[in-house]
Amino acid sequence: MDRRSFLKVTAAGAVAAGVPSLPAAAAKTGKTPLEVKSYVKESARKTPVVDKADVVVAGGGPAGFAAAVAAARGGMDVIMMEREYFLGGLFTGCGVTPIINMYNPTATGKELAVSGICLELCKRLDEVGMLSYESVRPKVDPEAAKYFMEEMSAEAGVRILYGVQATDVIMSGDRIDAIVIEGKSGRVAIQARFFIDCTGDGDILDWTGEDFIIQKNDIGAMWRIGNAENSKKGNKTAVKGVRTMHTVGEKEQDGLDMYNLTRIQLKLRKMMWNNSLELKKQKGCEDLFLLDTPTVVGVRVTRVLNSVGNVSAQGAAERKSYKDVIGFTGSDSTLKVGGNKYLVRERPMWQVPYSAITPKKIQNLLVGGRCFGFPVELTYDAREIGTCFMTGQAAGSAAAIAVNTRTSCRDVNIAALQSSLRKQNVKLDW
Ligand SMILES: Cc1cc2nc3c(=O)[nH]c(=O)nc-3n(C[C@H](O)[C@H](O)[C@H](O)COP(=O)(O)OP(=O)(O)OC[C@H]3O[C@@H](n4cnc5c(N)ncnc54)[C@H](O)[C@@H]3O)c2cc1C
Repeated sequence: MDRRSFLKVTAAGAVAAGVPSLPAAAAKTGKTPLEVKSYVKESARKTPVVDKADVVVAGGGPAGFAAAVAAARGGMDVIMMEREYFLGGLFTGCGVTPIINMYNPTATGKELAVSGICLELCKRLDEVGMLSYESVRPKVDPEAAKYFMEEMSAEAGVRILYGVQATDVIMSGDRIDAIVIEGKSGRVAIQARFFIDCTGDGDILDWTGEDFIIQKNDIGAMWRIGNAENSKKGNKTAVKGVRTMHTVGEKEQDGLDMYNLTRIQLKLRKMMWNNSLELKKQKGCEDLFLLDTPTVVGVRVTRVLNSVGNVSAQGAAERKSYKDVIGFTGSDSTLKVGGNKYLVRERPMWQVPYSAITPKKIQNLLVGGRCFGFPVELTYDAREIGTCFMTGQAAGSAAAIAVNTRTSCRDVNIAALQSSLRKQNVKLDW
């Protein structure tokens, strides 16, 4: 059987929750979209616990960074684990540097939707001339962003752990007791009181058996060219002579299939190389060169939480207010919902409720970033970097409250959370 046929795609482009749609053999492991040829048996083993923290954040992309900083500022001992050796995820590692949805485009200009930690980072980048604008989108230099994200994490007291892939969780009833990580030190575990899934792909959702859907989407890339002052192609950056290029890539791709990801990354590198050679042929571009290609494969969306209460697409179009609002996000796309089309610059910014980052089953887990609970219609908006910073900051702040008050993620006091977010300069009011 073709491994892609394991995932039953609905007309809307989403698929039903991962486990039920897998064949029986794979459903037993529940961990892979691949065709299972046979099994090898692992012997039972004890996994050493090498560290403990109040909060563990899995993934150091925009959401993970904001979650970790917010939790640490809330008094938590935080470990942020990241499989790469830099912060920023797709933001800095895929050259995806225009922060969409931080500002909401309006008929007359722009209005700030996401402030908080996102705005703090932008201010630091602006001070050193590493921020420019692409339309209403702040565009940052990826190396400068990596530097300042590490600086802000260190100032908050976040313990960064690089080069480790989270691979499993150890459960105690409906609580996560420890997260299993693998890296150069082998397979070890870290215990914590609270966990935040900022892997982008909802890896922890899968291992804990939480409710989610899987979406297929375009897998593409952004890359940079240098000595490109005279190039007619590409967008300007804060650095003289450096431009960014973008390809939407292949449509409706499975971002959880390792063979597919490898195939696409190899194909894209060839395309970027050849494209740069073509661009060199432009007048005045003899010295143009391929400055960098993505170190993180350009997956837009995969697992998406089926949360306690997903954000509503109709609500996003029509200025819905939520009692448990945790932030706003811009509306930098055309939204089609309920047979209507809501155009960019005519759409209002929209609110995200706490219920949308909260899982239904696990007691000590929240989600930040591109795998929080949103409907398919909102996919474009909900996964943008501004939105990821915002949901991450809220998840980190809520985790601190949950740990301090010894409550489950579903019992976090919303008034206390909103008060904490307001103190952090997060916009919660229209
Ligand atoms: C080609 C492309 C172009 C885009 N263009 C834009 C744009 O112009 N503007 C915009 O705002 N958005 C854009 N986006 C979307 C945006 O970049 C992402 O949605 C956003 O970065 C998601 O943030 P995140 O923190 O949720 O996840 P990610 O950025 O994916 O970060 C997740 C982090 O977790 C780490 N990780 C994952 N799994 C594990 C694990 N098991 N263990 C340890 N670490 C793990 C990853 O290495 C990564 O660092 C684009 C996306 C793509 C692919």
